[in-house]
Amino acid sequence: MRPSVHSLYNLMTHHVIIIGSGPAGYTAALYAARSDLKPLLFTGLQPGGQLTITTDVENYPGFPDGIMGPEMMELFRRQAERFGTIIRDEHVTRVDLSQRPFKVRVGDDEYLSETVIIATGASAKWLGLESEISFGGHGVSACATCDGFFFRNKVVAVVGGGDTAMEEAHYLTKHAREVHLIHRRDEFRASKIMQDRVISNPKIHIHWNTGVDEIVGDEDPRRVTGIRLRDTVTGEPREMALDGVFIAIGHKPNIELFSGVLETDAAGYLITKPDSTATSIPGVFACGDVQDPLWRQAITAAGSGCIAAIEAERFLSH
Ligand code: NDP
Repeated sequence: MRPSVHSLYNLMTHHVIIIGSGPAGYTAALYAARSDLKPLLFTGLQPGGQLTITTDVENYPGFPDGIMGPEMMELFRRQAERFGTIIRDEHVTRVDLSQRPFKVRVGDDEYLSETVIIATGASAKWLGLESEISFGGHGVSACATCDGFFFRNKVVAVVGGGDTAMEEAHYLTKHAREVHLIHRRDEFRASKIMQDRVISNPKIHIHWNTGVDEIVGDEDPRRVTGIRLRDTVTGEPREMALDGVFIAIGHKPNIELFSGVLETDAAGYLITKPDSTATSIPGVFACGDVQDPLWRQAITAAGSGCIAAIEAERFLSH
């Protein structure tokens, strides 16, 4: 019996396997493909990454009128495929980076590769409340673009003080009647332009020095009905009635596959060599948000994906 195309990919040793499909992964794929490295890319559970759950991207050069995140990632994907990237909508479950060729597993399937480019990105952080989990999908969300629609003419809260919180609050005013922005300090971390947009929006009410103690709601049917807050200065508790809570307190790098194997910083971001995407293991490169606690922009992620592909090519040619 002739082996299927799928099993042939398992048997061969690839030049480069890319894990992740945000701007970093797709850009690495585009450059690797144009260098004739025939990259194999695994998208993970969320093809397109974080930008597929964002609204208008207004700050990616080349799109003067802005572009929707999912559409932009579809364009990235098509451009990577145009030059021969093999894209699998699959989630890598294990990697063995102890020797070359490296082993990348997807369930029972094992793939071999001379180099690996890690572009697994980052995921939303949660407050750590039990109620946040129990009401997840029933009024608690970390993605206004995905779930804002369900709160038409309702009252919602956004928790956080960074650009994500500003963006989510602003977006939610398109759907919700009132948006309460809850921040634990008395100043935002967000960029001035995003702050100004929120502060000047009459539908957004800002609650400074306010922490979240609990999200409360009904069990049958399960739905959020309110939030228990606490003044972070005086400690005074209070409750607010509302229909939904959006958590927007930042992100954590997706490094589960590599923990204990590759060097990370205190916050868990993969460490790459200065001016390089090289990790602590030769032949393994990391790009995008998984190694970037600082800039975390689509354009910087794409830039580092480009560097990773060029570095992988140079590594292979030595
Ligand atoms: P940030 O880390 O910038 O901000 C996180 C916010 O959440 C902070 O205000 C922080 O409070 C608060 N926070 C963190 N943990 C908790 C907690 N346990 N309880 C309550 N509040 C908490 O993350 P963002 O996701 O907002 O932004 C990340 C990066 O992405 C930034 O560089 C940002 O500029 C960029 N970005 C850019 C966008 C754009 O340009 N369109 C859109 C979205 C993000 P505190 O300030 O007190 O630490």
